[in-house]
Amino acid sequence: MSAPYKKQEMIKSELNGTLSNRLICSNTTELSDREKINKIEHYFTQIMHTLGLNLYDDSLIGTPRRVAEMFINEMFSGLNPANKPETRLFENKYDYNRMLIEKNITLYSTCEHHFVPIIGMVHIAYIPDKYVIGLSKINRIVQFYAKRPQVQERLTIQISTGLKEVLQHNNVAVVIEANHLCIASRGIKDTSSLTHTADYSGQFEKETIKKEFLSHIYNKR
Ligand SMILES: [Zn+2]
Repeated sequence: MSAPYKKQEMIKSELNGTLSNRLICSNTTELSDREKINKIEHYFTQIMHTLGLNLYDDSLIGTPRRVAEMFINEMFSGLNPANKPETRLFENKYDYNRMLIEKNITLYSTCEHHFVPIIGMVHIAYIPDKYVIGLSKINRIVQFYAKRPQVQERLTIQISTGLKEVLQHNNVAVVIEANHLCIASRGIKDTSSLTHTADYSGQFEKETIKKEFLSHIYNKR
């Protein structure tokens, strides 16, 4: 078999907030972050060398290490289940039972096909019942799933499922609007197209509730 990873080595569960990605290969999850950084530094050195770059230049000499640390500690930190944000719910003492919207959450993710940025906005809504979630936790859940090699469709579903898992109910909506630099800066070079994805669950499947959410997002920026 010439494929880099055999099927049986893949973790199949599509999502539950932990490894949550069928593209994650189980034989690398055993490595520590330090070991991963060392490996990536080694292989990125080979890439730069193959490109003909002078690795003794003092501007480039630290690049493989910087890239490796950035991959593990920042850009792809969401691949490590240990980085999943702790989320605590608070009692909904004020009986707030209308939708809560957190819009224009900054999104930086990475296209898994080209390893170039996906840049956009995420809009989230939920309808509290007995509990509410700290607002910044919504942003943290978004960032956790964004910091993986992604496709926008999967990212949308992972954020939605992650929120439902924390809130323990289904009344959640997620909209993502994003520019993919693999479309804008290379290939077709379309700088104006925007990719829109959405996931509506529970009460948000009702047209009136969905419309209310969308009007908040799009009417008053
Ligand atoms: Zn791409």
